[in-house]
Amino acid sequence: MTVAMNDLSVTRPATREFLGTEHRNFIDGQWCAAVSGRTLAVIDPATGQTISRVADSDADDVNLAVQAARRAFEQAAWQRMKPALRERLLHRLADLMEANIDILAELESIDNGKSVAVATAVDLPCAIDCLRFMAGMPSKLNGSTLKPSVPFLPDGELFAYANYLPVGVVGAIVPWNFPTLLLAWKIAPALAAGCTVVLKPAEETPLTALYVAKLAAEAGFPAGVINVVTGYGHTAGAAISGHPGIDKVTFTGSTEVGRLILQAATGNLKKVTLELGGKSPAIVLPDADLDIAIPGAASGIFFNHGQVCTAGSRLFVHKSRFDQVVEGVADIARSMKVGPGLDPGTEIGPLVSKIQQQRVCAYIASGRESGADILAGGDSPAGDGFFVNPTVFVNTRPDMKIVREEIFGPVLVASPYDDLEEVIAQANDTPYGLGASIWSRDVSMVHKIAPRIRAGTVWVNCHNVIDAALPFGGFKESGWGRENGMEAVRAYTETQTIVISL
Ligand code: NAD
Repeated sequence: MTVAMNDLSVTRPATREFLGTEHRNFIDGQWCAAVSGRTLAVIDPATGQTISRVADSDADDVNLAVQAARRAFEQAAWQRMKPALRERLLHRLADLMEANIDILAELESIDNGKSVAVATAVDLPCAIDCLRFMAGMPSKLNGSTLKPSVPFLPDGELFAYANYLPVGVVGAIVPWNFPTLLLAWKIAPALAAGCTVVLKPAEETPLTALYVAKLAAEAGFPAGVINVVTGYGHTAGAAISGHPGIDKVTFTGSTEVGRLILQAATGNLKKVTLELGGKSPAIVLPDADLDIAIPGAASGIFFNHGQVCTAGSRLFVHKSRFDQVVEGVADIARSMKVGPGLDPGTEIGPLVSKIQQQRVCAYIASGRESGADILAGGDSPAGDGFFVNPTVFVNTRPDMKIVREEIFGPVLVASPYDDLEEVIAQANDTPYGLGASIWSRDVSMVHKIAPRIRAGTVWVNCHNVIDAALPFGGFKESGWGRENGMEAVRAYTETQTIVISL
């Protein structure tokens, strides 16, 4: 089967105009070419064609952005801005993103490969909600009064309180799978806390970050508060994580790069938040409602073409229901419409890049070679785009690479289990601990199992449900810290204790 091409003529004129713009970094409220003058190509993964070019930045550009962010952080215009005014700016940015949601969704789709319908219904509303949730924080980021009992001072001699101050200049590095959503998860709490930001989008998907920068300028954020520097990880990204002028780095991406970020951060001991990889289990108990569990398990792995850090990539089903569940998921996989993101009927778009397609296909080959059987997919449709058909493996062993490593593509490994202790041990038999789902009607059993799963989020009868109010992050090698919720804002603050001798 050959997949249809992405038809850019169906996009809005404003989207095409933006694609045709000569893109530059957004530093200190200005659009600036990379100091080196270099640019890098932005590729449409549905066709393999270059659709735009952006600045190929390095340490020189990051330096300029950090200097701008530092100046903005120290200026009264941002530091002493009334919390209500900071809230209004965040709301204004959210409103502008909402007003431009169709353009942002088309850019996201063309840049990343995801369907425009999904970008419109999921990525962008969730990003906008995150900005609005965090917009409520500046006026509520209250400290507390403290009650010291210092033994060597008389009663009533001290008054003390703790206050949350912004951590300073934040370097934010995001991946390509949810470009706008994950940038919102970073900039919204950082700005709410009073920080300034240098953001680096992934080299594969820089367009929506630049569009959001344009909207932030329109919203009226002071120059230097939000800076966007595009470029590769080993150049621009490494310059951010090692920069002595950055007080905190917040990173979402692979565990491998997370380790590099951590090493680079030791120079000035900058604070670090890491949201890393996963190999999340979906566990179907014998009593599960299969009308919910089968489509739920399929969407748990195939949503966003499996390029989700919490993708339910390991399916464990009680042996009494295994054949029925796995056949059901394989039927869904076989019936999914693979196509370009701009086609409204598309259910599975291309993977983000040729490299990612080759990586996923190498995992599928390794699964075959190590003796696992393929129930659905296992190949790519013909054409120039970076597609991989949704794939279901059975007859796997726990030591296989496809079972142990994060594939980050539409590839499911399914295995039967006998008893609960066995499946809990298997679910936890991974260095990752980001997400998990349990499918069951037995509420009491669910409550017994959930705390025994070593994962930052456990979903019950659903998978991949995220919200700005719900803390999100990983146990074990899936990361440090949490995004979303109140915890996310606190992560961009330093606690200052004030002690007054009366
Ligand atoms: P990646 O780690 O290769 O890249 C992520 C970002 O880091 C990109 O912006 C990249 O340019 C930058 N980068 C790369 N090398 C760098 C370096 N040496 N120094 C500084 N920055 C560098 O990850 P990816 O392939 O873009 O994304 C896929 C990974 O992200 C998967 O492992 C996935 O699980 C993870 N992810 C995690 C979450 C989460 O919330 N836990 C969410 C989405 C994706």
